[in-house]
Formats: sequence, C-alpha cells, structure tokens
Amino acid sequence: MARIQAPRGTYDVLGDMALARERVEREAAAVLVRAGYARIETPTFEATELFARGVGEATDVVQKEMYTLEEGDGSITLRPEGTAPVCRAYLEHGMHKLPQPVKLWYLSSFFRRERPQAGRYRQFWQVGAEAIGSDDPAVDAESILLLGELLERLGTGAVRLVIASLGSPEARADYREELKAHLRAHEDELSEEVRDRIDLNPLRAFDAKHPGTQRVMERAPRLLDRLPAEDLEHFAAVRGMLDDAGLAYEVDTTLVRGLDYYTRTLFEYQSSTLEAAQNTLGGGGRYDRLVEQIGGPATPGMGWAAGVERMLMAAPPQPVAPPPLELYVAYAKPELRSAAFLLAADARRAGHPARLELGGRSLKGQLKQADRAGARYVAILGDEGTSLKDMETGEQKTVESGTVMHHITQGL
Ligand code: AMP
Repeated sequence: MARIQAPRGTYDVLGDMALARERVEREAAAVLVRAGYARIETPTFEATELFARGVGEATDVVQKEMYTLEEGDGSITLRPEGTAPVCRAYLEHGMHKLPQPVKLWYLSSFFRRERPQAGRYRQFWQVGAEAIGSDDPAVDAESILLLGELLERLGTGAVRLVIASLGSPEARADYREELKAHLRAHEDELSEEVRDRIDLNPLRAFDAKHPGTQRVMERAPRLLDRLPAEDLEHFAAVRGMLDDAGLAYEVDTTLVRGLDYYTRTLFEYQSSTLEAAQNTLGGGGRYDRLVEQIGGPATPGMGWAAGVERMLMAAPPQPVAPPPLELYVAYAKPELRSAAFLLAADARRAGHPARLELGGRSLKGQLKQADRAGARYVAILGDEGTSLKDMETGEQKTVESGTVMHHITQGL
C-alpha cells in the first residue's frame, strides 16, 4: 500500500530539533517573565468572525490563507495568528479589571495555507508577546527591546530593526485616498495583483516584488509625512526611548505588514543572513483598535510575534547534550526480567534517570547498548546476584541488590 506522508508544508519535530525548540521556549520564558509577562494558551481554533473582523477582511491571511470549516450553525478557523485570540481572551476574562497593561506571552502553532517553501510552512510556531491596556510609548519601546533581547540570547546573528508609524485609522483614511489616486495615475505600470487591489488594500503595494510596481512606489506619497501631530509625537517618544536604550534602528517609510489591525508603531527584526523572502524573524506593532473591533471597549495594545522556525534557521545549531542516563539495568537471562524491571522503576521513582533493557539483547549486546546510551552505571542482574559497573572507570563490583541506589549516588 502507498505510504502515507505528512501534509505539504508541515514537518515533524524530533531529535536535536526538539531540543533546540525547548531552548527557544526557555529563553522566551526567561526574557518575558522577567518583564512581567504571564503565559497564555488559547484554543487552536476560534470563531472565523474573530479573524475576519480582527485581522481584516482585506488581508491575504483572511482572503486566502485560512483553514476554515463549517460546524453546526457556525464557522471555525484554525488560528492564523495569535493577537486577535489573546485580545478575545482578554475581553472574555474581564482582564480590563486588572492593573493595566496586562502582559501575556505564548508559544503556539499557527496555520496558514501558504505556498510551502523554505521558511514558510502551513503549520508553524510563533513566540508572541502582547501588552494590552496602555498606549504609553514606553510599552512600545519595551516590547521592541524584549524581542531584540530574545533574538540576541538565541544567537540569531546580525539583525536589522526597522520601524515605522501608521498613525490612527482616521489619519490613514485620507492617506489611502491619496495613495489610491497615485496608483490609479500609474495603473498601467503596476502588477496585475496590485492593480486589482487598489481599492481593497493599496498599502500592500509597498510590499510588491514586481519591478514596475516598485518604481511607482518609489514616487508614492509616504504615510509618515501625513501623520497628525499626536501620532508623530508618540512615534518620536518611542524612538527616543530606543535611542536611550542604545538600540539601533532604521525608520522605513514603506514598511507594511500583512495584518490590518496595526495603528501607530510598526516594527520588524530582519535577519541579515537569511534570504530576503524569509528574512523577517519577527515583528509586530501597536493595535489600538483591535479590542474594539472584536466587540470590546476602546483598549490600546502592543505586541509582536516571532517565528520559531525562522529564529532557528538564523541561529547556528547549538551542541545539545543528550539527556543524562544514570543507570542502565541489564539482566543475564529472561527469568530476571521482572527483578530488573522493578529495579529500573524504583531508581526512576527515587529520581535517577534509569532505563531497562527492552530489546531482548544478549548480555554483551545490552552492555553495548548501555554504552551507546551514555549510561553512567550498568546494573547487571545475574544468577550470582547483582553487579554494578561504573562505565566511566570500568570498575565492576558485586553489590547487595538493595544497595544499587546507594552506590549510584555515593560511587562504587
Ligand atoms: P506575522 O504573524 O505574519 O506578523 O508573522 C510573524 C512572524 O512569524 C514572521 O516574521 C515569521 O517569522 C513567522 N511566520 C509567519 N508566517 C509563517 C509561515 N507560514 N511559516 C513560518 N513562519 C512564519
């Protein structure tokens, strides 16, 4: 029969990869918990409406990348991102009654029906951090700093931090009209995709790889030049704090991200070593209207998400030590298997990493296996009692069967 394979755009996590990911989780927790973030895990699927309203109907994510299924009288979607679900949870659990901002972090898997390619999967993992309930520019600067710290600790190498400000949706509305007029005036130079979406999502044209479109966009008006004073002040305050913290950044007036909920601050960390199509390690920004958009009171928020696969692609693999094994329990003949089984179980219960021979090997094969597994001691159950071998020194001694644990803690 034909062998069944994993779906396209997915992958299995095993071996060193599993250990490398544990390190990402440990480092993320260390960086974020220190800054007051608490872990959150939301369901893998949500009401489709949450993403349609939260992420935005006009985005690629909502238009073509969601895994949606109809269920009963509703529609559910495998989460394509984490910010809208966290805001939903914030509302649902009345977190606005807690001291603000409420800081939450997650490491979860997300699903997007994208064309599978290097660094782009259909199920992928993100570390994310959201600070909800304050519009203080210090929240923005702190959030940006924290992702920088995580990347540094993971050793992702040289990164470029680019930032921009999108202002409020009202400020953006006038600008959109101006940009649309510019795009229409140069319609015949644009890619078909951009031309078809002039009304729907004109800002995405800044992201286009099409050379004609890029030339048009070089001459396009910039949102940053149109922002009202209060948005510019907010942006200046964020930049000032990044300067104070000694964090280098570039202001990129063409920066756009694929999610519609952003207001004001927008940022990305780009790897200098990964290919351009997949060099964004992570990014985020402020989303001061999102909570309202999904049915809550006006509540500002700021956050980011970083791709676990991307960060691991950029970070050189770290030597990972295999898990320690203190005791390998071997036995000379099948009749001694239950005694060996109990010894291994007792050792584990007493806190010692211990394994029992399970492969039906000869005694010689068992010792070889113990060596391969990196066991510190091997207990050999035989007709003449139990002997314990120190694999480091090669010393071997017959011991009372009840004293094995004593010997592996005290030495032979
Ligand atoms: P976004 O949620 O689109 O802002 O993406 C944040 C980060 O998640 C990106 O910078 C990538 O590192 C990662 N990411 C997004 N989409 C994918 C994907 N399909 N496969 C792997 N990583 C992804």
